Amino acid sequence: MHEQDSIFEQIEDRGHERLCFHYDPETGLKAIVAIHSTALGNALGGTRRWYYESEEDAIFDVLRLSKGMTYKAAVSGLPMGGAKSVIMLPHRNHQRTESEARAMGRFVDTFGGAYIAAEDVGVNIQFIDWMAMETDYVMGGEKISTGGDPSPWTALGAFHGMRASLLHIGRSDDFTGVKIAIQGVGHVGQNMCRLLTKAGAEVVVADINKSNIDIAVEQYGCEVVHHDDILRTECDILAPCALGNVIDGTMVQHLRCSILCGAANNILGDPEEDAVALKTAGIVYAPDFVVNAGGLIHLAGLHLGMSPEHLQQKNDEIFDTTLRILEDGKNTSSTYTSAVGLAKERIAGGEKQCHAP
Ligand code: NAD
Repeated sequence: MHEQDSIFEQIEDRGHERLCFHYDPETGLKAIVAIHSTALGNALGGTRRWYYESEEDAIFDVLRLSKGMTYKAAVSGLPMGGAKSVIMLPHRNHQRTESEARAMGRFVDTFGGAYIAAEDVGVNIQFIDWMAMETDYVMGGEKISTGGDPSPWTALGAFHGMRASLLHIGRSDDFTGVKIAIQGVGHVGQNMCRLLTKAGAEVVVADINKSNIDIAVEQYGCEVVHHDDILRTECDILAPCALGNVIDGTMVQHLRCSILCGAANNILGDPEEDAVALKTAGIVYAPDFVVNAGGLIHLAGLHLGMSPEHLQQKNDEIFDTTLRILEDGKNTSSTYTSAVGLAKERIAGGEKQCHAP
């Protein structure tokens, strides 16, 4: 659960600019857009379709995720702000439909470009293209909007984050003999298996979905452990790539890795406290919003008109940024503090580049 502050208290506390609600009577769509910051420019962030137990849970989620997007864009050196949206599903298995997506597209369009939507949990390329039938302010489709599935780019960025982490602890970054445990081999996890096994790493995976495990084993020769054991697996790098909130202060004591570097958003339950606990335990933590920014960089970069070379260079920069933050983390309470510090520095020093009317 979460704090029971009023909505305005939560907005004030997290520093949001706008929190907007929409109900579409024709489709029953209930959606929320949270724009955390446009200090550096218009804000790109995914649309999450999820069944929430309560409106409070949905508001908490969209506020937390959108603030994370501000940090992610800033730390990546993008002239973009941070936002996110959620669709509150009426039940867990509510099917995606064109009418629902188009209703969401019309809602997104009302922001005139200050908010640009993209994929998140529960949204696929088809859904994005349906949304794009109603608005130009959506990225990640293939037929009507552009960008496609961002997960290969997210995995590539996390791969660079892992290289930086290995160098930081005095290891070679060629991955030979490096053991990596991946929790969750969905879109990002499968791409990580591909990159890491090609680079010579020994990869151990776990997933609750057997067909995804089968792909990791058959295509990439990964080993498998039970999903209850993956976080405690002895390894060089632990890479949570499934859900957020998987590591807390108690779990830190059970970890048997040298490096924590995964693509899931909000890996730490309480990032400020848990990142300190990781440092105390001698585990190098590469902050998630730094290393999982590859997908955002790709879609935001396309939206901003970057060339393929520039997009590649921006993804490569995740290596340098991670290295810088890990080094800085030696002199601060944690690498999380260092990463947030860098994001805030860039927000304070950046120039606004909004395109909204
Ligand atoms: P996905 O839904 O394709 O994959 C998630 C996988 O995790 C699935 O295979 C699922 O079965 C598995 N899983 C769920 N619960 C599990 C558990 N308890 N133990 C083991 N496996 C479990 O999602 P994705 O697009 O690969 O994203 C993975 C994570 O990375 C998410 O947290 C997402 O928010 C984050 N992320 C993704 C992107 C992207 O480009 N897709 C970008 C940034 C961050």
